[in-house]
Amino acid sequence: MTSQAAKSEPKSVAILGATGSIGQNTLDLIRRANQAATGTSHEGPYRVDSLTAGSRVAELAALAHEFRPRQIAVADEAARPSLEDLVSDLDCEVAAGTSGLEEAAAGPSDWVMAAIVGAAGLSPTLQAVRQGKTVVLANKECLVCAGDLFMREVVAAGATLLPADSEHNAIYQVFDFDRPEAIQSITLTASGGPFREATLAQMRRATPEEAVAHPNWSMGAKISVDSATMMNKGLEVIEAYHLFPVEKEQIEVLCHPQSVVHSFVTYKDGSTLAQLGSPDMRTPISYTLAWPDRMAVPVTPLNLGGLGQLTFETPDLSRFPLLKIAQVALQRGGLAPTILNAANEVAVSQFLHRKIGFLDIAEVVERALERSESFDFGGIVLENLEQVMDVDARARSLATELTAKLAVA
Ligand code: NAD
Ligand code: MG
Repeated sequence: MTSQAAKSEPKSVAILGATGSIGQNTLDLIRRANQAATGTSHEGPYRVDSLTAGSRVAELAALAHEFRPRQIAVADEAARPSLEDLVSDLDCEVAAGTSGLEEAAAGPSDWVMAAIVGAAGLSPTLQAVRQGKTVVLANKECLVCAGDLFMREVVAAGATLLPADSEHNAIYQVFDFDRPEAIQSITLTASGGPFREATLAQMRRATPEEAVAHPNWSMGAKISVDSATMMNKGLEVIEAYHLFPVEKEQIEVLCHPQSVVHSFVTYKDGSTLAQLGSPDMRTPISYTLAWPDRMAVPVTPLNLGGLGQLTFETPDLSRFPLLKIAQVALQRGGLAPTILNAANEVAVSQFLHRKIGFLDIAEVVERALERSESFDFGGIVLENLEQVMDVDARARSLATELTAKLAVA
C-alpha cells in the first residue's frame, strides 16, 4: 500500500440497529460520502464492517448487498436461515441471536453506532465498549437501565462515548469539560410532541397513529410514543446525568415546539451557549461520524429569519406525568431507573398493540415502580449485566400483569 493510500485508510464502522430510523440516517451519510469519493456505497472513506437488525431480514439483506459488510447479524434466531438464503451470493458472515449481535459489535470496527431500541441494545453495546471503541449512543435506554454500570465499563475500557441523541449532542458541543464547575445548569429542550396542546380527554382517546405522528422528527415507533408521553425527555434527563459531570438538580427541561435550539448550557457568569439546527438527525449523527472533524450534510439550512420566532414554555407535568416520574426515579437511584425503563417498554408496546390506552402508559409505569418496592431496591448497586437483566425481566413481568388488568376489552 502506498503512503498516500495509508493516509486515507477508511474508517471501519458497525451499525447496531441498521434497519431503523437512526441506522438508516447513519447509512445515508455513509452512502453519500462513499459515493462522492468512489461512485459506490461500499468503498470510500467508510468501510461498513457489520450491520445488525431485529428481525427485518429482507431490509438487512438489501443493505448487505449495497454496503458489503464483513458480517451481518439478526436478533431473531429463527430468521437466520432466510437471511442466509438472501445473502448466499455475498461473501458475508451471518450471525444470529444475542451472541450474534455481540459478535457484530465486538468485531474489528473502530466506530460503532448503538441504535437498537430498548434494553435489548445493552449487551451488544457493552461489547463494543469493552473493546475500547468509539461508541456512538443513540440507544438511550442503555444509560437509563444500567447507567452507572455502563459508565464504569466505558472508563475501564478507555472507550470514547459520543452522544447521537440531538439534545445530548448539542450539550456535548457546548459543554466545557475542562471546567465543569463553571456550569450552572444544562437545559434539555423538548418539542412537546403531538399532544402538547391536547386536553386530557383527547389524550385518553389517542390512537397509536396519532401518538407516532411527531410534528418535527421522523423516528421509530417506540421513541415517537415516548415523545408523545414526554417519557422521552424523562429518559433523556437520566441519560444526561450519566453523560455529563453535573448534579441531578442541574438538569432542566423546557418545551420548545420548533425543535431548532437542540439544548443549551448555562454558565455561572450568565452566558448560555446553545447548539441550533434544523430538526434532522443527520446533523448530530454526522458530528459523531466525522468527529473530531466536521462533514458536509445535505440538511435544510436553518432559516431563522423565515421562522421569525422561537418559543419556549415549561412542561405541563399534570398532562405529562411520566417526565416527573422519570425525574423522581433518577433521584431515587438504585433499581428505580431500570424498573422505569422496563415498565415503559412493556406499556408502550401494549399501547402500540391497542391493548391499553395512551394515558394507561403512565399508570403502568407508576404502579410498577410502587409495586416493585418488594424488590427491596433502596440503595442497591447493579454490579453486572446479569443483575440488570434480572431486574429488567422482573419489572417486565410485573408491568405485563398490570397491563393485563388495564387491558381494553
Ligand atoms: P427504530 O424502531 O426505527 O429501529 C430500531 C432498530 O433496532 C431496528 O434496526 C430494529 O431491527 C432493531 N431492533 C429492534 N428490536 C431489537 C431487538 N430486540 N434486538 C436487536 N435489534 C432490535 O428505532 P429508532 O428510532 O432508530 O431508535 C433507535 C434508538 O435510538 C432508540 O433507543 C431511540 O430512543 C434512539 N434515538 C432515536 C432517535 C430518532 O430520531 N429516531 C433520536 C434520538 C435517539
Ligand atoms: Mg432526543
